[in-house]
Amino acid sequence: MRPLLELVDVHAAYDRITVLHGVDLTVAAREVVALLGPNGAGKTTTLRVAAGTHPPRSGRLLLGGHDVTGAAPRDLARAGVCLVPEGRGVFPNLTVRDNLLMMTFAGRDRDEVETIAYTRFPVLARRAAQQAGTLSGGEQQMLALARGLATDPAVLLLDELSMGLAPRVVAELYDQVAEIARQGPAVLVVEQFATAVLGIADRVTVLVRGRVEHDGRPDDGLRTELAGLYLGSS
Ligand code: ATP
Repeated sequence: MRPLLELVDVHAAYDRITVLHGVDLTVAAREVVALLGPNGAGKTTTLRVAAGTHPPRSGRLLLGGHDVTGAAPRDLARAGVCLVPEGRGVFPNLTVRDNLLMMTFAGRDRDEVETIAYTRFPVLARRAAQQAGTLSGGEQQMLALARGLATDPAVLLLDELSMGLAPRVVAELYDQVAEIARQGPAVLVVEQFATAVLGIADRVTVLVRGRVEHDGRPDDGLRTELAGLYLGSS
């Protein structure tokens, strides 16, 4: 199957400093690809390129085989690209329900948005009237994912979903991410530390200093390689 999301020979820079040096990356529908790598490797920048918030200096971004290099973030969002940023991007002073209902701009009606969210994450139904800032870290991440799902994404980009969360909570979240991918979207997950996401990833791309060092299935060879590249063991 042709990949839904493709980055082809992407170079990206901040001012004069190049941080991606020819990155190739693909994600197909129903596939979870983990993008791993040490601090500063360029993982977040790669997601920004995919979401259109940081246009590449050279190379191409393809969506469903169409060249969308340089497209504005809102156009990519309309085409189904959804970025759940590091730090989750929820509005702490709004209730859980209002955080969800904001997403109706994407075309779904209010009931549909809430039903999708509460079916996947029942705890959010119990917290619907609570301010998002008072949720636990794991619940906030569920809310961030639910907001993403409200947009009916074709491509879901998840940045450091495990940040600051207990391993048990991360495992539960990744079970849901695997379920979400089974229903259709292409899912690209960035993590610095690897173990939890390796359990659900179909493929793993390892980025080191802005270059792809490995692309393949999450097998024992990869685990050994990761341990050698950096301490990706948590
Ligand atoms: P981390 O796990 O620390 O978030 P990362 O793999 O996601 O790392 P990036 O955040 O993409 O890496 O950063 C890659 C390089 O680009 C780093 O050297 C970083 O300092 C630099 N960088 C990132 N964002 C900016 C920015 N807005 N302006 C200038 N340099 C930046």
